[in-house]
Amino acid sequence: MKCIVFLGIQGSGKGTQAKLLSDRLGYQHINTGDLFREQIGRRSALGERVKASIGRGELVSDELVFEIIDSSVLPDMKGIVFDGFPRNTKQAEFLVRNYQVLCVFYLDLSEEDAIKRLSSRRMCSDCGVNFNLISHPPKSDGVCDVCGGELVTRQDDKPEAIKQRMSEFYQQTFELKDYFEARCLLKSVKAESGITEIATEINAALNQEF
Ligand code: AMP
Repeated sequence: MKCIVFLGIQGSGKGTQAKLLSDRLGYQHINTGDLFREQIGRRSALGERVKASIGRGELVSDELVFEIIDSSVLPDMKGIVFDGFPRNTKQAEFLVRNYQVLCVFYLDLSEEDAIKRLSSRRMCSDCGVNFNLISHPPKSDGVCDVCGGELVTRQDDKPEAIKQRMSEFYQQTFELKDYFEARCLLKSVKAESGITEIATEINAALNQEF
């Protein structure tokens, strides 16, 4: 199965760009963080196992990540856009062993800008849609535009967990840039500009490639 990967620090806009690109290409969008949050929301056995470590901003074990991916892949899709996976070298090796990686986009954002974005992020407690108080505010304070649910700060967007997640990113995920660069798969994209500009740059890079 073909796949495209989004790498980047938390808050760099991977989720938004991965969703846009998967819709455009007709690929499945797999966001491992969302898959785990869904399990936590359902209070499944897997959700109960990962809840505490996710709340602290720590990574979930590779085995549970592989398990949730294997059980989520829809075999009749044209391809997959991965977002939030891989997070370390062992996961990257699993990826290249099992999938044909077409391209890896690295969304490049400074730690300072990422912290600003995460602190202003709010999520609907009912439908899970994300808002940002600065760049994408809801029409009414604290209320989801889509379903009217209450907007909350994700447990792992609180200051201590943000610090932990950023340190995981620099300790384990950042080096994947080199891993994919060495395989001529990496495209770096500056992530400070607006959603449309970044999407245009991503589409142009893909059109050039294929
Ligand atoms: P995210 O929304 O991508 O920041 O993911 C939220 C949390 O889910 C992370 O802080 C990790 O605890 C867990 N998680 C998501 N994807 C992975 C992964 N590929 N490897 C390990 N843990 C993950």
